[in-house]
Amino acid sequence: MKFIGKILDVKKQTLDTVTLRIKVPEDFDFVPGQFINAIAKVDGKNVARAYTISSAPHEKFIEITVKKQGLFSGYLHSLKKNDEIQIMGPLGLFKFEKTDKDIVFVIGGCGIGAAISMLRFLAANKMKNKAYLFYSCRTFDDAAFKDELDSYEKKGMLKQIITLTRSQKEGCEIGRINDVLLKKHLKDIPSKVFYLCGPVIMVQDIVNMLEKLGVSKDRIKIERW
Ligand SMILES: Cc1cc2nc3c(=O)[nH]c(=O)nc-3n(C[C@H](O)[C@H](O)[C@H](O)COP(=O)(O)OP(=O)(O)OC[C@H]3O[C@@H](n4cnc5c(N)ncnc54)[C@H](O)[C@@H]3O)c2cc1C
Repeated sequence: MKFIGKILDVKKQTLDTVTLRIKVPEDFDFVPGQFINAIAKVDGKNVARAYTISSAPHEKFIEITVKKQGLFSGYLHSLKKNDEIQIMGPLGLFKFEKTDKDIVFVIGGCGIGAAISMLRFLAANKMKNKAYLFYSCRTFDDAAFKDELDSYEKKGMLKQIITLTRSQKEGCEIGRINDVLLKKHLKDIPSKVFYLCGPVIMVQDIVNMLEKLGVSKDRIKIERW
């Protein structure tokens, strides 16, 4: 589906990340994990970029969570309420699948949008899965959606493991996500379903690690960029 979406709200998540709430047609439907292409003329050129939907399907809008990096993300950061943007989607095969197993999100940076969409879906549908979030950030201030993640943890549906690669903070782990960290926080790793979302190198490293730990390929779902 291709449509013009009006910006309903802009929310600052961190110093360099915003969430844009966008109006969608009533029949727009997606599965948590999918992305849209946002399209616009920037500096005289037609540009399209992919952004994971960070809202859940029951919400009457979509949200995308965008880290400011270059040309297009910079343009998206300049948008204000009531501006319009062309959207194409939903797209992608990275999709949440219902399961009775524990769910483990392994997330780097703004890949957090996919985990938020799936957690909102789990909460809205009162699903009983226990979820774990391994969230790699440079500093604690780079962690987005902290209040929402804390609320899921208070309800007992989520255990958060935030690991910082460029600073330290009490209650957080230090360094990259590795097998030692996974084994420290997870029992019976092969029994769980993993959703990995983030930078290409990080995701590939974690796939290799999970396979060595005995997780079968069909239990490892990936999105990377
Ligand atoms: C399936 C999928 C889902 C995605 N989901 C998200 C998401 O949820 N949130 C999100 O923020 N992104 C997401 N992305 C990434 C997004 O599509 C864009 O790639 C990202 O926003 C960068 O685009 P840009 O035009 O801002 O950067 P570009 O201008 O294309 O630049 C890309 C990189 O090159 C660097 N760069 C640019 N110019 C220079 C230069 N002259 N010298 C040195 N370095 C330079 C930039 O800093 C940037 O890191 C996703 C991508 C895919 C494929």
